[in-house]
Amino acid sequence: MSQRKPDHEHQFPDIGDLRTSIRFDAGTGCIWLEQQRVMLLHTAAFGALRDELFESLGTKNSWGVLFRMGRKSGIADAHMARRMRPGASDEDAFAVGPQLHALEGVVHVTQVKFEMDVDSGHYLGEYIWRNSFEAEQHLASQGPSKEPVCWQQIGYASGYTSEFMKVPVVFKEVECVGKGDSHCRIIGKPLNEWDDAEELKKLYSQDSLAEELYSLQSEVQSLRGMISPLVEIESIVGQSPRIAALLKMMEKAANTDVTALMLGETGVGKEVFAGVLHKMGARRDDPFVAVNCATLPEGLVEAELFGVEKGAFTGAEVSRAGRFERAHGGTLFLDEIAELTMEAQSKLLRVLQEGEFDRVGDTRTRKVDVRLIAATNADLGALVREGKFRADLYYRINIFPIEIPPLRERMEDLPGLIIKFLDRFNSKYGRKVSGVMDKAMARFRGYHWPGNVRELENIIERGVILTEDGELIEADSVCPGMPSDNVDESRVTRTGGLVPTAANGEQSSVFQAFVDQGLSDFDSFEKALLQGALEQAAGNVNKAARSLGMSAPQCRYRLKKFGLN
Ligand SMILES: [Zn+2]
Repeated sequence: MSQRKPDHEHQFPDIGDLRTSIRFDAGTGCIWLEQQRVMLLHTAAFGALRDELFESLGTKNSWGVLFRMGRKSGIADAHMARRMRPGASDEDAFAVGPQLHALEGVVHVTQVKFEMDVDSGHYLGEYIWRNSFEAEQHLASQGPSKEPVCWQQIGYASGYTSEFMKVPVVFKEVECVGKGDSHCRIIGKPLNEWDDAEELKKLYSQDSLAEELYSLQSEVQSLRGMISPLVEIESIVGQSPRIAALLKMMEKAANTDVTALMLGETGVGKEVFAGVLHKMGARRDDPFVAVNCATLPEGLVEAELFGVEKGAFTGAEVSRAGRFERAHGGTLFLDEIAELTMEAQSKLLRVLQEGEFDRVGDTRTRKVDVRLIAATNADLGALVREGKFRADLYYRINIFPIEIPPLRERMEDLPGLIIKFLDRFNSKYGRKVSGVMDKAMARFRGYHWPGNVRELENIIERGVILTEDGELIEADSVCPGMPSDNVDESRVTRTGGLVPTAANGEQSSVFQAFVDQGLSDFDSFEKALLQGALEQAAGNVNKAARSLGMSAPQCRYRLKKFGLN
């Protein structure tokens, strides 16, 4: 081909051989570039994709994605370079890259500086880019940028050169039309010759983006938990059959206005369950007001619950609504209801029966529509017999008792609860504590948890504060009061009884069962475990992770390892 070459292209060989390598095969809907399938894409369509990337991933992450996308096509072109110019010098074979970049409609390339020695790995290239399609698209949709913008193209140049040279070479844009320069100028040299080589390496890694997304995701989740930790249904960890059954029962009660009575030891989470019951029902968008009767100031119990009129007593300088009025339309949760005075008890009974009450010092009767959830860890029946609790009120609130089991009877939930509290306190204290040591876990399992979930919560909070980022919580730092590995001691309950624990015989039969199934090594055991958890969670990785007591990224990593995800 005897075309006259423009002056600025004189350093590259004739492009004719490359032109003929493009074949349009409309009959099959394929365009071929040598042996690779390519396609025509509107630059505006690419621009739109690029815009969406920036919008949803932010500048830094989008750069990475575009760079890796360009790199991929650069590598593909490098594979053809030698084939397309058989017998040519290294220099002429290398020129296939910049020339294809132009032929593919990406950018026009002029060589400024070019030193290459494939054997020693030496490379230095400087090029001027004109008509960069990426700069054009960036300017059109986003306007001038402060930084260079041709990231996909830089990825191409880097990928092509690295593949051709067989050493990592990175290009940088030192001038760019996207930031107001008259043309783009790029310089490339081996990765390790750049001062910021470590930073540049991250561009190659897809993981950095995925990792960031996962960590953002879990941050959002734990922030959500912080916003209303008491009323999210997901806030209940319910792997154990006891809790699963309880939640089912609560669902039935939720859509009636029946008064519910939460029973259970201290620290089992009665307020959390009350909040969930509220969220399950028709009043979910109305207020949930929680009051602990034991913490109300003495003498002010009635004023707090039912409100007060100005002048009713010294200090009552303005009229104000009580908790009942504030919960109007919604749910009032009265914790430690056994602490109410007899007088408050009779007022409470009246609201429950008539739906009306008077503020303290008021002559006007008010109507209120409130669902009551009460809670106590006291034996109300005994208090009734002792004359300390009104029998009629007891029967009125004991219509739908909900017994929340102590933690030691729902140990299946231990891992899930630990993950939940780790998330909460990592986010509260800006930390990244990654979990609990096996030894601590073993002690947790053997412990009888008199303070229940609240005690566990406190322990994990202390653990997060005492443990370094990325480390596991150690047994000795969080369990000073907990019996050590002495099995007998740890099995003693508060009442002096023994908590049943798996006998050695049972353990060995579990082991035998694994062996019988052909799960004789850790890998196949782990794989079977992951598979089972994933099936049980109907493919939901987050759920599967929870059931295995690991974080979602940890679980994803393992699933990937076994090709399960
Ligand atoms: Zn540019």
